[in-house]
Amino acid sequence: MDSHGRVIDYLRISITDRCNERCLYCMPEGYKGWAQKADHLTAGEVIRVARAAAGLGFRKFRLTGGEPTIRTDLLQIVRGISSFEEAEMLALSTNGTRLKELAAPLRDAGVSSLNISLDALNPTLYRKVTGGDVAAVLGGIEAALSAGFARLKLNCVLMRGVNEDEIWPLILFASEREIPVRFIELMPLSNADVLSEKNFLSVEEVIARLARRDEVVPLESATLGWGPARYYRLKNTGATVGFIGAITTPDFCASCNKIRLTADGKIRPCLGRHNELDLLSALRSGEGGVEEILHEAIALKPIDHEFSGCYEPDRPMTAIGG
Ligand code: SAM
Ligand code: SF4
Repeated sequence: MDSHGRVIDYLRISITDRCNERCLYCMPEGYKGWAQKADHLTAGEVIRVARAAAGLGFRKFRLTGGEPTIRTDLLQIVRGISSFEEAEMLALSTNGTRLKELAAPLRDAGVSSLNISLDALNPTLYRKVTGGDVAAVLGGIEAALSAGFARLKLNCVLMRGVNEDEIWPLILFASEREIPVRFIELMPLSNADVLSEKNFLSVEEVIARLARRDEVVPLESATLGWGPARYYRLKNTGATVGFIGAITTPDFCASCNKIRLTADGKIRPCLGRHNELDLLSALRSGEGGVEEILHEAIALKPIDHEFSGCYEPDRPMTAIGG
C-alpha cells in the first residue's frame, strides 16, 4: 500500500529504449539516445528485480519499451518472470511488427496478455504516424489471435487532425476479431510537434461522437483487467471499446497500481513526474538493497501526475517505458 491508500502490485518493465518504429508522439525530435551504446539491464538483472518485486507482493508484470520484441533475449526474460508462482499476469506491449514470428513462442514462454499498438489501418497514414508497415502489424495481430493469449487488446493514440477518421474502422476491425480496442489521450511526454493542444482529442469527445452512431453502454465493471481504461459496449456493433483519459479524467491517478523500471535500471514511481531512484547501483554493487529501493519507490508515489502543468519528461517515453 502506498501513502495514498493504493495497492501497488504492478511493475512495468522497459527492457529497451530502442525501437524499430518512430511514432510521432513518442520520439522527441532530434533524439540521439540511440547513437549511444545501449545501457540496458541484462536479462538476469531484469529477472532479479522482478523476483524482488514478487517477494514484496507485486503480482502483475508488463514488458514494454521501446519495442520489447527487438531484444534477442526476450523469451529468456519471459520464461524467467512467468516461472514465478506470484506472477498472476505477465503482459507485453508491442507495436506488433514482429509478432508474426514471435506470437506463438511468446505465448509458449508464458506471456498471458498482449497489447498491440495500432493507430491507423490505412497503410499511408500508418506509415506517416509510425514510419512502419501496417501489413506487418496486421499479420502479427492474426498470429497473436491464433496463438491464444488470455487477453489481447489494441491500443490507439488519439490525434485530432491525424487519425480521427481511423477510429470507426479500428472499432469495426477489433469487433470483427472480438477483441477490445482502447483509445488513449495524447500525453505531453516529449517535445514532438504532434504534442500540441491542436492535436489533442479528449476521450469524452470521442465517446460523444460514438454515441451519435451507436448506443454506448458503460460496462458493469468499468475496468476490464488491471489497467487504467474504462470500458464501454457499443450495443448495435457489439464492440468493446476502452478509453484511457490520462489528461481529462479527474480521478485518473486514484486507481494507479504501478511503478516503472527503466531499461537502464532506474525505478520511476510515476510516469508523469521526473523523480527516479537508482536501482542499477544496488544491483551491480552486489550489496543488496533492491527491495529497499522498491519500497522507497512505493512510498514516494505522488498522489497524481503533473501533465496539466505541461509536464515533459527529461527523457523520452521509449526510455521510461510506456
Ligand atoms: N513499442 C510498444 C508499443 O508501441 O506498443 C511499447 C512501448 S510504447 C511507448 C507503449 C504505449 O505508449 C503505446 O501504446 C504508445 O502508443 C503509447 N504512447 C507513447 N507515447 C505516447 C504519448 N505521447 N501519449 C499517449 N500514449 C503514448
Ligand atoms: Fe516505438 Fe512504441 Fe514509441 Fe511507437 S510508441 S516509437 S512503436 S516505442
